[in-house]
Amino acid sequence: SLSPLGFVGLGNMGGPMARNLLKAGHEVVAFDVSAANAERFVAAGGKVLESPLAVAAAAKTVVTMLPAGAHVLEVYGGSKGLLADGGAEQGSLLIDCSTCEPAVGKQVAALASRRGAAAVDAPVSGGTPAAEQATLTFMVGGPEPAFQAASLVLQLMGKKVVYCGDAGMGQAAKLCNNLVLGITMAAVCEGHALAGRLGLDQQKLADILNTSSGRCWSSDTYNPCPGVMENVPAARGYTGGFACDLMLKDLGLATSAAFTSSPKLGLPMGGLALQLYSQMSARGDGAKDFSGLYPHVSAGETK
Ligand code: NAD
Repeated sequence: SLSPLGFVGLGNMGGPMARNLLKAGHEVVAFDVSAANAERFVAAGGKVLESPLAVAAAAKTVVTMLPAGAHVLEVYGGSKGLLADGGAEQGSLLIDCSTCEPAVGKQVAALASRRGAAAVDAPVSGGTPAAEQATLTFMVGGPEPAFQAASLVLQLMGKKVVYCGDAGMGQAAKLCNNLVLGITMAAVCEGHALAGRLGLDQQKLADILNTSSGRCWSSDTYNPCPGVMENVPAARGYTGGFACDLMLKDLGLATSAAFTSSPKLGLPMGGLALQLYSQMSARGDGAKDFSGLYPHVSAGETK
């Protein structure tokens, strides 16, 4: 049996993901440095332990959902980490769903194999609504048997689990996806800014975009223009969701991965999008959802 399952990182994504494991009938033991996020998980019926090490000691399969590479290396390799003495061992499976450098995915896999444990990188796409509804897409890198075993757990939190190749390849797929996402969100913001300026009804523009060649996830599922959709960050002052600073991180990872692999691969559109989110963050909105780029792009031109 899979129970108990372990979980580290109960934030905007990890919180609802771990709750879906509870809903599937599993016992879940978890850890988060944020007391507020840990308490919310206890209120949902989960159990909270004192460290990642304690989680790995109690659960053979552990999912992690952390902000970035540095947190992942700490949670896996730290003195109270998943891979410290007494933690994950032969027969353990560690599944990192955070978005970070492909190199971190490879490093974690190497650390795990020293203890005889299996590890996969399994970053996600879909955002907080998909995390809540268990409809995420997972992009998985690692040995194929570990992928097969991880799929059994990931299916409880998502609807699509894609095998991308060796360790780090899940992260490679995720960076390419978020490069496109960062650009399409900026494009939809500009479209709505122009519509506002031209006096076009924003709902009309959204209806047209969503049945025309401009259609994309940023327009039809996560529209950034307030009033167009319910249950998206734009409908609640750009709170919750996917922080601008996390998008900035992903665009930084994508552009630096491009530069490292080939200095000739400039990713000019990605570079422009990175500058836009960087300005949004510098103006104090880094913790807001990335679709909050809209008021920055449309400043003074709507409503
Ligand atoms: P978040 O900041 O809401 O959650 C991260 C959680 O990790 C927080 O609860 C934080 O307290 C916890 N944490 C940080 N350091 C820790 C440590 N050392 N030990 C234990 N817990 C620690 O972030 P999020 O939005 O849930 O995103 C998590 C990851 O998923 C990121 O890599 C992000 O890029 C990726 N992602 C997010 C979305 C989204 O829509 N939010 C979508 C796809 C992918």
